[in-house]
Amino acid sequence: MVAMLVAGAAWSAKADSPEDTGRQPLAVEAVTAAHASELVPAVITTTPHARYLSLHARMAVEASRRGWSTDDLPAFRQLLRRCEVILAAVSLRHDAVDREVHQRRAGKRRPHGVNTIAQALDGSESIDLDELSRAYSVVANGFYGTYGGIETALGLITPEVLPAPGPAAEPEALGALDQAIELALGGDVLSMADLDGAVGVCLCQVSAKTDGASLRRAYFGTDVPDPDLAAAHRASAAVLTRAVHGQPVDDNIDLMMDRLCCFTSDLPQILGGANLDHAMRWRGALLRNWSVWAWRLLWANLVAPLSGTGTREDAVAVFVAGLPSVRVRQALRDDLPPTVDGNSGLQPVEHDLNDEVGQAGGWSVLQLLRLLAVGARRADEVDGLSREAFLRYDQTGMGPVWFRGWIDDHADIPLPDAARSLAIAMFNRAEKVSRDKMQWTRTGLRMPTRLRVVGDRLRLEGREGDAPASLRLDTFASVLLQLGVLDVSDDGMTWKQGPYGTEWSPGS
Ligand SMILES: [Zn+2]
Repeated sequence: MVAMLVAGAAWSAKADSPEDTGRQPLAVEAVTAAHASELVPAVITTTPHARYLSLHARMAVEASRRGWSTDDLPAFRQLLRRCEVILAAVSLRHDAVDREVHQRRAGKRRPHGVNTIAQALDGSESIDLDELSRAYSVVANGFYGTYGGIETALGLITPEVLPAPGPAAEPEALGALDQAIELALGGDVLSMADLDGAVGVCLCQVSAKTDGASLRRAYFGTDVPDPDLAAAHRASAAVLTRAVHGQPVDDNIDLMMDRLCCFTSDLPQILGGANLDHAMRWRGALLRNWSVWAWRLLWANLVAPLSGTGTREDAVAVFVAGLPSVRVRQALRDDLPPTVDGNSGLQPVEHDLNDEVGQAGGWSVLQLLRLLAVGARRADEVDGLSREAFLRYDQTGMGPVWFRGWIDDHADIPLPDAARSLAIAMFNRAEKVSRDKMQWTRTGLRMPTRLRVVGDRLRLEGREGDAPASLRLDTFASVLLQLGVLDVSDDGMTWKQGPYGTEWSPGS
C-alpha cells in the first residue's frame, strides 16, 4: 500500500480567493498553483481587468505628487474608492448604451463592485459618489488590495502604507486616467452625461490609450525590472494566441490550450524556440491538471452523501456501489483506450472521457479512476520539460506516478475493494490536511473543513468544490483582450490576434 503523504508545500499555497479557502480538502491543487505562477506570473483569477492596474499606478503617482504620508491614508483611501466607483460606473454605463463596442474590447466580465453600482445606475438620472464609494466594497483599500500584489510584481507600484510609483510606472502615460481623478475630486453627484463624457477611462478603452501602451511595456517589455517575468508573459501570450485563433470565444480556453500544447503532433512546426519550450511546460501543467481535477471530483463524490449526515462507512458504500466487479488491472490498465498513436503522438483520451461525461451529466467514480489511470500512463509518454512539469509534487500531491504505484499495488484486487481502501485513505488525508491547517482565531479554534462531526456522524456543510483548479488562462485571456494583444472577429464569435499582438513577439 502506498502511503498517503501530505507535505507543507501541498497546502500552504494560497487560495486564489477567499471563497476558495477550505476548498482544497485533499491538498492536491498546489501543483496547479505553482505552474500558473510560473507560466502566467502576476495573474490571479480575481484580477481580470487591466485598467485597475493603471488606475492604481496613477493613484500612486497622485499620492507622491501630493506628498502624502502615512497620516494621509484616510484621504488616499477616499480618493481611491471614488476613482474605483467612477471606473466601474463609466464601464457599466458604456456596457449598457453601447454593449457591442464595449464587450468587444472589455470582454464580458463586469467591473468590480458591480452589484452595488449597477443597482444605483439602474433607471437613475445620476449617482451619488460619496454614498457609493462607501458601499461598493467592504475592504478598506477597495480592489487595490486584490491587485496590489500584481502591481508590485509588474513594477507599477512600490507597496508601502501608501503605494509609491514603481520603476515601471510612467506618470505621463498614466495621464490617460486624469479624468477619473478629476471627477473623483469634484462634486458627489454624477449625471449620466458625466459618465458618458468620461468614456475614455472605461475598461474597454485601455488598449488604445497611453496607459495601455505602458501596461504592455510592463507585461511584455524587454527593459523591465524583472525580465524573466516579461519573457514568460511573452511566451504564454504567443502560445495562447495560437491556441485560441479562429476558435469560438465562448469555448473553454483550457481545452483549446490542451489541443494545441498536448495533442498537436506537428507542434514544432507551428511554434519555435522559446515559445515551443514554453508550450512543452504548458503540456505538463495542463495534463497534470486533469489528475488534480479528478481528485477534486472524487472527493466531492465521496462526501456528497453526507449532506444529510451519515458515517464514513455510509459514504464509502455509495462511493463503490457503481463499480464493476473486475480486478484493478483490468479496469484501470487493460481496458483503457490507446493513449498514443503509432508515432508516439498523444491521443486526447482526457477529452474523450470529458465528452462522454458531458452527455451523461456528471463524472462517475469509475470514469474518474480511469482519468487518473490515463494520467498514470502519461508518466511514460511525456519527456523533457513536459515530464518535469507533469510530475511536479508527484508524491505529495498524489500525482501520476503515485497513482501508478497504487494501481500496481492493487492490480489483483477487485476494483470495489481497492476503491474502498482508497476512499478511506482520502478521508484520512483530508482529516490530516484540515488538522494541519487548524488555527486559533479570535472566535476559537478554526478547523478548515466542510465536514462537521455531529456525535459519531459527519455532516457536509455546503458543497465541496468540483471545478477544475485554475491555471488562470481565463484571466490572462481577459487581460490580453483588454490590452489588444487578443481580439475577437467582427461578428464577435471567434478569437483572433489583436492589433498589438506582435508588438513584443515579432514573428510568432
Ligand atoms: Zn467601455
